[in-house]
Amino acid sequence: MTDDGLAIGVDIGGTKISAGAVDPSGTVVDRELRETPERTTTPAVAEDLIVEAVSALAARHAVVAVGVGAAGFVNADRTRVMFAPHLSWRNEPLAVKLADRLGRPVLLDNDANTALWGEQAFGAARGVADAVLITLGTGIGGALLIDGVVHRGRNGMAGEFGHMQVVPAGRPCECGNTGCWEQYCSGKALRRFVADAGSPLTGAEITEAAYAGDPVALGAYGEVGRWLGTGVAGVVAALDPERVIIGGGVSAGGELLLGPARTTLAATLVGRNHRPLPDLVPAQLGADAGLVGAAQMARAAVAG
Ligand SMILES: [Zn+2]
Repeated sequence: MTDDGLAIGVDIGGTKISAGAVDPSGTVVDRELRETPERTTTPAVAEDLIVEAVSALAARHAVVAVGVGAAGFVNADRTRVMFAPHLSWRNEPLAVKLADRLGRPVLLDNDANTALWGEQAFGAARGVADAVLITLGTGIGGALLIDGVVHRGRNGMAGEFGHMQVVPAGRPCECGNTGCWEQYCSGKALRRFVADAGSPLTGAEITEAAYAGDPVALGAYGEVGRWLGTGVAGVVAALDPERVIIGGGVSAGGELLLGPARTTLAATLVGRNHRPLPDLVPAQLGADAGLVGAAQMARAAVAG
């Protein structure tokens, strides 16, 4: 193994900062992990942890580029994190600050966009021109591939599918609106459906119980799956992609989730009797998608 063409990818999530040196085939050859600091800490705390992780990797390997994916809104020119729900960053010029401290260019984007970069290069979006990535974690993240390019929108905020209203006057959402899709189709929704049925199961136990045939856990996956199909039908009506890729922790439910989603999609998509249905498939890169994609995004930028 050589260090040829290694790029560093960093994925800044709600619970951990995951950094890795990634080779041109998408293999993570070395890693550094830090816990995401509390939202109440100053922006510099998270920045210090990123610099520490990247510097440790860069000390062990020759790297050609550094890419960062952050859970939050990243502005149109990809230099600033405008808002990150899990961190104290507000209009934070993260790319410039990191580049200054690391002494090398740093490419920044939203974590769902970097995950799509990863899936496009090495996973479920390979060879597809038009695709949508939907990540089901605590909430919903989303990213769009249009004509082979990750589409960011005017303000860099495209793909926030989780805040489409699917239930008028529905459940309140952290964003300030009500009835947002992610209130019904996410890890949080899955846990709520289970709790509402009186079951003590939580977190990964729900997935294990569902695979073991627990009726409450299966029912919760079915419910989230039907809501997934409902929302995907709206997204597909708007964008007409070839493939819809489902990632994030909840996608561990596999066909328990995707089966009901496909049934609902086939029953509700506009023009369903007169068009091919898009593929509805699981993401392939798992928890590393954002990290691998951030490295790939940075590698592509330095390659011009
Ligand atoms: Zn919302």
